[in-house]
Amino acid sequence: MRDGDTIVALSSGSVPSGVAVIRLSGPASGPVLEAMLGALPQPRRLLLAEIGLDGRLFDRGLVAWFPGPHSFTGEDCAELQVHGSPAVVRGLLRALAARPGLRLAEAGEFTRRAFENGKLDLTEVEGLGDLIEAETEAQRRQAFARMSGHLSAQLESWRESLLDARAEIEAQLDFSDEGDVGELPAHFAGSLRLLLRELEGAIDTVGRGRIIREGLRVALAGPPNVGKSSLLNALAKSDVAIVTDEPGTTRDVREVAVDLGGQLVILVDMAGLRDTDSKAEAEGVRRARAEIAQADLVLWLRAPDVPDVRPEAAAAPVWRLATKADLGAAAGGVDMAISTHSGQGLAELLERLAGFAAATTAGQAPLLSRERDLAALQAAQGSLGEALGRLDDPEIAAEALRRATHALERLLGRMDAEAVLDRLFSAFCIGK
Ligand code: GDP
Repeated sequence: MRDGDTIVALSSGSVPSGVAVIRLSGPASGPVLEAMLGALPQPRRLLLAEIGLDGRLFDRGLVAWFPGPHSFTGEDCAELQVHGSPAVVRGLLRALAARPGLRLAEAGEFTRRAFENGKLDLTEVEGLGDLIEAETEAQRRQAFARMSGHLSAQLESWRESLLDARAEIEAQLDFSDEGDVGELPAHFAGSLRLLLRELEGAIDTVGRGRIIREGLRVALAGPPNVGKSSLLNALAKSDVAIVTDEPGTTRDVREVAVDLGGQLVILVDMAGLRDTDSKAEAEGVRRARAEIAQADLVLWLRAPDVPDVRPEAAAAPVWRLATKADLGAAAGGVDMAISTHSGQGLAELLERLAGFAAATTAGQAPLLSRERDLAALQAAQGSLGEALGRLDDPEIAAEALRRATHALERLLGRMDAEAVLDRLFSAFCIGK
């Protein structure tokens, strides 16, 4: 009976630490606190107490009691704030998990219960996950808004409009049996068209939202030996760019994530581009081309000691950089000259990159940022467009409106949420 289980986990970060927070959720939370303290503490107030169980004293700390439904999960919950000592935490967790009805929580299980009890919808769960992962200020703002239900409210209002429209069409269908087919009100098509434009406007923001969430991809490109790796290392070492992640290396592409003025920027160094007979190298070149195609900005490098090649075609803006400026000027027009040896131009390049990132993501942080968002809104947009095209046939129009509503409900997690949840929670930490 997993559903009736009470779950327990360390919810704060790894020990040793100053304080550790152990969290419980489920029906046994109250009885455990009574066993520890002799009585339940006042709800939602911190109580300083000796923390022990079954005759064993572990620590002195703070205890909080959150009876359901006014808790994070909606169930009875408790939190124990103890010293962040491995021995205290391990001892307490073992003692708690050994009690009947209690067990250690799985990754994301507290949040799953919050979702199942209607405390959070799916987009809010995603926002919470994003907030915990947020590295930059822009990511934090975006995640906080999503977690706080701003996207849910928008989706809910679109959904209501669709439901109203469907009700009007269906009322007409009902009347049609009585030979009294009323005309749809004059404003009807107009308000659906307005809704369609809102959906289209929202779809247009997904790209910006994606850049905030996943980072602005800057591809360092050019023939071999122009100084791509040297530039990446120099940029990542500067005090201006805070490296947010361990650099990742796929076979031919090396990425470094940096925080530039509160915006996540992914610098991508790739195999040098040149025509080649070697198979392995050809694969590297293929990947480099794919990177350039999906980059948000391309830095095309040329150096005085390396024969120039024609820049790859890119959808994104391309900045032409002359590297190794300490060796002399590169031939041809360039936007900037830099040298990783003398440091020339590096500060200016970083400043320009930060400016570009800020301009790309300027304005209110878009709430839409995921593939799932895009797919749902495009589905709703398509179905709504179909309904608008078939207002002559109320049955077909009503059915199309129903599909549009479902697309939004799926995004909110009101239907088909399981697969999304499983994937999402597998990335959550234990204790969240
Ligand atoms: P990549 O193949 O494009 O990644 O190029 P690398 O970063 O490996 O650099 C190729 C060569 O150019 C190395 O020997 C570097 O030391 C040298 N190099 C890189 N940047 C500079 C620079 O600013 N000035 C000079 N003089 N040499 C550089």
